[in-house]
Amino acid sequence: MAGHVFGRSTAALPTAVAGAGCYIIDAEGRRYLDGSGGAAVSCLGHDHPAVRAALHAQIDKIAFAHTGFFTSEPAEGLADALIDCAPEGIERVYLLSGGSECVEAALKLARQYFLEVGEPKRHRIIARRQSYHGNTLGALAAGGNAWRREKYAPLLAETTHIPPCYAYREQQEGESAEAYGLRAAETLRAEIERLGPETVMAFVAEPVVGATAGAVPPAPGYFQRIREVCDAYGVLLILDEVMCGMGRTGTIFACEQDGIRPDIVTIAKGLGAGYAPIGAMLASSRIYDAIAAGSGSFQHGHTYHGHPLAAAAGGAVLEVLRAPGMMDGVREKGARLQAHLEARLGQHPHVGDLRGRGLFRGIELVADRETKTPFDPNLKLGPKIKKAAMARGLICYPGGGTIDGKHGDHILLAPPFIIEDIQIDALVDMLAGAIDDALAA
Ligand code: PLP
Repeated sequence: MAGHVFGRSTAALPTAVAGAGCYIIDAEGRRYLDGSGGAAVSCLGHDHPAVRAALHAQIDKIAFAHTGFFTSEPAEGLADALIDCAPEGIERVYLLSGGSECVEAALKLARQYFLEVGEPKRHRIIARRQSYHGNTLGALAAGGNAWRREKYAPLLAETTHIPPCYAYREQQEGESAEAYGLRAAETLRAEIERLGPETVMAFVAEPVVGATAGAVPPAPGYFQRIREVCDAYGVLLILDEVMCGMGRTGTIFACEQDGIRPDIVTIAKGLGAGYAPIGAMLASSRIYDAIAAGSGSFQHGHTYHGHPLAAAAGGAVLEVLRAPGMMDGVREKGARLQAHLEARLGQHPHVGDLRGRGLFRGIELVADRETKTPFDPNLKLGPKIKKAAMARGLICYPGGGTIDGKHGDHILLAPPFIIEDIQIDALVDMLAGAIDDALAA
C-alpha cells in the first residue's frame, strides 16, 4: 500500500486488519499463523478477551496522569504483582514503554547507584558479543550485535564485550557442558581485571539470547559463576529479559531456571503482549535504598512512563500468565514444538542446531552439518525464508550474522502460549516447507 508511513524499510507490506487467536489477518483476508509472536511479543495471541476488557475498563476511568504528579491504580497493581513473582531481592518496579527504554534506565540507574554509594569511578559496562539490548544509543552500545552497531559506532558509549555462552559453536570436543559454562563465565573475570575492577559498573546479559543468535540458552552453571564474579568485584548484574522473560521460556522470569538473582532485570515484549507498549525495569532494594537515602530521586523519566493504559494491559497479561497451568503449558508445548522440529528437521542437511527453552526456539542453519560451515551471507537466506514462510501463511523471525554479526543464519520461533497442538504441527510443516523453498530459490 503506498502511503506516508516511514517504515522499517521501503518494502511494501501487507496491512494487518484483524487478529484471531494465533493468527493475524491482512486486508486481503489472508491468515498468517504467528509463529514468532512478531518478535516474541504476542504471547497471548491477538484477541485475548481479558486483556481487551482491562484496556476498555481503564480507558473509561482515566487514560493518563503524569507520573510527576500522580501514581495510578494500574501501575501500583502491576508493580505489586511483578514483585510478587520477581527473583528474590528485587523490590521495585520502574514502568516504561518498551525494551530499549528499560535498558537505558537500567544503565543510568547503575551509574547513579555508584554515585550514591561513593564509587564515582565506576562507569564501565561489560556485555557480550552476539547479544541485543535495544536500539537507542545506550542500549545499542551495550548490545553486541555487530551489524546493528556498525553505522552508529562513533556515537556509542564505551562498552566492552566478552564472548557469548554459545555451546553449539564454542564448547570444545571432550569438554562437558558444565566445564564449558565455567570457562565461558570466567571471561568476565578476565575482562573486569583488564579494565580495572574499580571502574566497572555493570555486566549486562540476556539469560537466553534472543534475536541476535536465535534462542541460545546458557550452559549449566554459567550464570551462577557470572553472579559469583559480579559479587567478587562489586559489579552489578543486569539481566535483560525483554525477549526471554514473562513466561517465554516456561517460567515468569527466565533467570529462575538458572537459580540466580540479578540486581536489575528488564522485561518488555511479553509484558504488554502486543496490547500496549510497556516495559519494566526492576531493581533490588539495595539499589533503591541507596537512592532513597541519597539524593531521593532517580534522575531519569519519560512523559509516558508508567502510562495507566499500558499498565492496565500489563496487569491483565501478567494475571493470565500467572494463572494455574499456564507455565506448565508453555513447557509442555515447548517440548512438543522441539520434538516436532527434531522429527521434521533434525536430519535436514542444512539444520545444524535446534535449541531453546519453553516456547522460545532457535534453528541454526548451516551449509555443512559436519563442519558447521555457515552459508555465504550474500545468499541472504533470512529474508528469503521470511518471504517464503509468509507466502505459506507463517510468520517466523529469521536472522543473519548468528556467529559473528556477519556469518551464520538462524530462525527464531516464539509462538503464542495459547497455541494448540494442531497449530504446532502446522507451524513446523510450514516452516520446513519455507526453508526448502528458500534454499531452492
Ligand atoms: N532487549 C532485548 C533482549 C530485546 O530482544 C529487545 C528487542 O528485541 C530489546 C531489548 C529492545 O526492545 P524494544 O524493541 O522494545 O525497544
